[in-house]
Amino acid sequence: TTSGTALFTVRRAEAAPAPSLPPFGQFIDGGFTAPSSAATSEVENPATEEVLMQVPDGSVEDVDAAVAAAVAAKASWAATTPKDRSAVLLRIADIIEANRGLLETLEAANTGKPAAVAEDDISSAIDTFRFSAGAGRAFTTLGADDYAENHTSVIFREPVGVVGVITPWNYPLLMAAWKIAPILAAGNTLVLKPSEQTPLTTLKLAELIADEVPAGVLNIITGSGRIVGDRISAHPDVDLVAITGSVGSGQKVAANAASTVKRVHLELGGKAPVVVFDDADLEAAARGVREAGFWNGGQECGAACRVLVHESVAEKFTELLVREVSEISVGAPGAGDDVEIGSMISGAHYKRVLAALEDIRKEGLTIAVGGNALEGPGYFIEPTVVTNVPAGAAITSTEIFGPVVSVETFGTDEEAVSRANETIYGLAASVWTSNAARSLSVPRQLDFGTVWVNSHLVIANEVPWGGFKGSGYGRDLSIYALEDFSRTKHVMYNRG
Ligand code: NAD
Repeated sequence: TTSGTALFTVRRAEAAPAPSLPPFGQFIDGGFTAPSSAATSEVENPATEEVLMQVPDGSVEDVDAAVAAAVAAKASWAATTPKDRSAVLLRIADIIEANRGLLETLEAANTGKPAAVAEDDISSAIDTFRFSAGAGRAFTTLGADDYAENHTSVIFREPVGVVGVITPWNYPLLMAAWKIAPILAAGNTLVLKPSEQTPLTTLKLAELIADEVPAGVLNIITGSGRIVGDRISAHPDVDLVAITGSVGSGQKVAANAASTVKRVHLELGGKAPVVVFDDADLEAAARGVREAGFWNGGQECGAACRVLVHESVAEKFTELLVREVSEISVGAPGAGDDVEIGSMISGAHYKRVLAALEDIRKEGLTIAVGGNALEGPGYFIEPTVVTNVPAGAAITSTEIFGPVVSVETFGTDEEAVSRANETIYGLAASVWTSNAARSLSVPRQLDFGTVWVNSHLVIANEVPWGGFKGSGYGRDLSIYALEDFSRTKHVMYNRG
């Protein structure tokens, strides 16, 4: 289907501003260099299906050159003081802020996301650099004391060395910032591979900050996961590899990293349950699911995509949710500040989401609102609510990563907890209740790295973000990210 229901139409921008494209080439040793091969891939605007740019398909040689630059820069960058590094990170934040309009337009053009989401991404990225600039200075040596007779121990934190980073397409610049800022603050150098679909803002950032970061400290290689991602995770001189992406890619990276016993930091998929108890403020919960289930078109690892609502309030809640979702405005970037969801990231992903909707229909579940593709150009899908979902249906455990929220019902608190935990993922969840005892006890029983109470998808740089189980291990943001990107050393002095 490409028609959609009359409820939703795609709003179009009258004259979208032309995005300012980054230079062509691989960013190695402080500048853009010619790629080792002539092969390129198209980078598309998924809201218009126009080609924005050709980007080099990186090779093993490109990765090796970038790693060599990162190795050469390692000692001098590690020898800088936290104060020196902080100054660099603060300058990066200022440069992003000074160029935020340009970066927002470019991000929206490359992802099809609405202006409001792109603005939030860039604001958060600026704050990540500012937070890491301060946190790096407060992140001191762990301590010194006497633990063995006549000996004094000093426990140091050191940079890990060269960090390889692999980022996804849903928040291109923000996910790069979540890695670059703490990795640099902790004194490491890095080689980053952006998603092949959305490399533009990461390359633009490199162009903008090239004079601020010493040569070799930050290197960016575009290309596929199969070649560039594979080489980064297997390279003997990369000391740690961090990936934000799907479970399958995380597994490949971890298996690859094992060959050189390098450390691994994994931020993988999610399927966040939203547990709505009978004592919850149902209007607030429905609004919360509208915002957090459909943010970024549901292409969000912590999206509020799986509601478990108490059977006694299910009908009322579903009615409220369907009303909320019916009001969502769909549109291309630049079509207005009130557009809530944009296009899917690519034609391939659009087809995957539509195939999932087809399966939902075949399973006999009810599509209470939405469920169709919208008129092109661009890969737009209606915001969708699926009801009549039995325990164990595929939609309760499969990550769709699109504008689709399902609603299941439960009877007892125990059932709510055990059903919410019945997933391979463990990234995020939320609990909606006005009962104080439940708000204290239920979050502790949920197997998820983040649990919100009467809220969903609120993230801050001071608090850790990361999963349990199939969602991976490793923490982004907060002081815990600095810890993940450091190593601990014990030096013991014989006082005699
Ligand atoms: P993806 O796994 O397809 O790609 C992510 C990155 O991994 C890309 O740069 C890709 O090129 C690379 N990659 C792919 N195969 C690889 C390999 N064999 N070796 C090395 N690198 C490889 O994921 P995506 O489609 O870009 O992003 C969506 C996924 O990311 C979803 O599952 C989502 O839940 C997850 N995600 C998680 C978080 C989080 O914080 N946990 C945040 C955003 C996205």
